[in-house]
Amino acid sequence: MSTLQIIDLRASVETKEGRKQILNGVNLTIESGQTHAIMGPNGSGKSTLAYTLAGHPKYQVDGGQVLIDGENLLEMTADERAKAGLFLAMQYPVEVPGVSMTNFLRTAVTAVQGEAPSIRTWTKELSEAMKRLRMDPKFAQRSVNDGFSGGEKKRAEVLQLELLKPKFAILDETDSGLDVDALRIVSEGVNRAKENTGLGIMMVTHYTRILKYIKPDVVHVFAHGQVVETGGPDLADRLEEEGYDKYLPEGASESA
Ligand code: ADP
Ligand code: MG
Ligand code: MG
Repeated sequence: MSTLQIIDLRASVETKEGRKQILNGVNLTIESGQTHAIMGPNGSGKSTLAYTLAGHPKYQVDGGQVLIDGENLLEMTADERAKAGLFLAMQYPVEVPGVSMTNFLRTAVTAVQGEAPSIRTWTKELSEAMKRLRMDPKFAQRSVNDGFSGGEKKRAEVLQLELLKPKFAILDETDSGLDVDALRIVSEGVNRAKENTGLGIMMVTHYTRILKYIKPDVVHVFAHGQVVETGGPDLADRLEEEGYDKYLPEGASESA
């Protein structure tokens, strides 16, 4: 049983117009096996929260704490955070030409677990995981995300998730750009990770449709860099109907 605790987290980024405060005191606690949906308008800081937790150097922490089982995550480098059990599925996965999927994944698994899986075990585990995600075996030899479609990139993120077996996963709009079949396959992968390893999930999403496949225990509304409301699954239904307008500044409206 593990706990990820975010306490009054503040973060900013350097922009052309100067330093911009994006996270304005985020409070959130996730336990193993729980799924928390973070829902909010575009530009509210959801990806910034994801990147800040993962240790992206562009985002400066200005205050607050993040603890994973009591350990100070913010003092760790990005790779130490991964070893501590944190995983980020990025909204826009990075293409890495020249590095094959199989080498990348085996290197990552070795780094996180502290020892290399034997080639035989590895080959079997990789091909089975790819099969479950309906990925063509040829993808193992392709460069990481290089020329992948949007949906293929999201599957590759979930493949990493299944192989790395983290304690907590941040899924940043893993549903975006997926057709219904891909959404179901990707969701099944996340649910498997949850069942097999007791994964705790922070599921960042703009839309409610993924919540039909991955059931949240808790739903948070995220606006202007903060959690502004927390509820059960019914809160997502209300957001579906009402949109985010009431959480936006006076006069502003989200154009789809
Ligand atoms: P969301 O994921 O909720 O759509 P983001 O975290 O991507 O929101 O962005 C929040 C705000 O911070 C936006 O106004 C965005 O333009 C700004 N922002 C985020 N990252 C950067 C950056 N690296 N440089 C400049 N502005 C940024
Ligand atoms: Mg956005
Ligand atoms: Mg985002």
